[in-house]
Amino acid sequence: MRVLVVGGGGREHALCWALHADDPSTTLFAAPGNPGTAGLATNLAVAATDLDGLVAAARDHRIDLVVVGPEAPLAAGLVDRLRTTGHAAFGPTAAAARIESSKSFAKDVMASAGVPTAASRSFTEIGPALAHIERHAEPLVVKASGLAAGKGAVVCATRGEAAAVARDMLESGILGEAGREIVVETFLEGEELSVLALTDGERILILPGAQDHKRLGEGDTGPNTGGMGAYCPVSLATPALLERVRREVLVPTLAELARRGCRYSGVLYAGLMIGADGTPWVLEFNCRFGDPETQVLLPVLPHGSTAHLAAIAAGTWRPESTVLTANRAAVTTVLAARGYPDRPEKGAVIDIPILPPDVLLFHAGTTRDAGGALRVAGGRVLNVTALAPTVAAAAAASRAACERITFDGKTWRGDIARREIDRSRDRAGAA
Ligand code: AMP
Repeated sequence: MRVLVVGGGGREHALCWALHADDPSTTLFAAPGNPGTAGLATNLAVAATDLDGLVAAARDHRIDLVVVGPEAPLAAGLVDRLRTTGHAAFGPTAAAARIESSKSFAKDVMASAGVPTAASRSFTEIGPALAHIERHAEPLVVKASGLAAGKGAVVCATRGEAAAVARDMLESGILGEAGREIVVETFLEGEELSVLALTDGERILILPGAQDHKRLGEGDTGPNTGGMGAYCPVSLATPALLERVRREVLVPTLAELARRGCRYSGVLYAGLMIGADGTPWVLEFNCRFGDPETQVLLPVLPHGSTAHLAAIAAGTWRPESTVLTANRAAVTTVLAARGYPDRPEKGAVIDIPILPPDVLLFHAGTTRDAGGALRVAGGRVLNVTALAPTVAAAAAASRAACERITFDGKTWRGDIARREIDRSRDRAGAA
């Protein structure tokens, strides 16, 4: 098999790692990849958004399977293009990817399918948006409908704050095209959970539950980021809850997409708020693997799990089970650059010591200079994934490794998975 992984972050390094671990005879390519993928794959100098370049690369390198990491090429129709040129590709078509690229579309699909989600209305004009906000209960949430790299959702304590956010997006255009339409929705309370499922549009294979940490600072403080860490499995994601997610969220959403003529295949990521009564409310859908959730999910899946991606892309998928269970726990900590997320400082030299075998280092924003030194090249620099029998042990091992990796400006959270660890301590105390 000759496989091309599209993208160049930690998620794509993890995908290359898993594809290689499952079948070392696979010939891997990454576009554009990073210094981490370079150890497993041939990096091609093609940007993840260069659709012509990617289609040409698939042809020139006789690629059997393209695995698309990021949302932008999916939303732009990379999978549609590859299918017309006869290349198997894992990921949804542009029409199906609207489940992420248009929150307004996603809300409409959920309303038709009866999927639990916050009550909402969509607006393209500031007048009606402000009038609606004026009558809305507090707190409330204002979201850009389009792709905004994790910066599109703002939880507002007051109507005044929500009105200002709506003006910023619709009038000042601070998020550009992504904020030309906004969604105003009711605030939901509960515990957040990410549930990812592999699907061909009909069959569903649910991956272990994961939780990410969006805020920059420890104790979930500071600005929102692309994600500062993640862990799995999550004790909240019991088999019974995952079954509810299948029945109440995944099945009806996929059926509604198929009914609308845009059958979904790939990985469907449901960002959920689990209410006190266990209802899985959908906050958002993503049309791809999460970053950094992938860096904890792939390492804990049963050996050989990446074969599902090839079978889904080929249209020959007949999974033998409905859930994949984690065979151990994983915690990933993101090492970010000073100034992330707004103005990450680039250029610092990175020093990586020899790490224990149960620690996987996935590169995200790194580059190798002409002299071969590894340097900071992006906001999120490295993902330090530790594997252990328990989440607590994995968190401790990830932290210990993070201490030992050095670069000027290293910014990270030492409390990834803290809530899960506290929960399991409470349970042990109660028992
Ligand atoms: P989203 O991009 O829609 O997943 O939103 C980003 C983050 O904003 C989520 O992970 C939640 O923490 C928060 N959020 C979004 N929508 C809501 C909501 N309706 N109620 C409460 N929190 C929300």
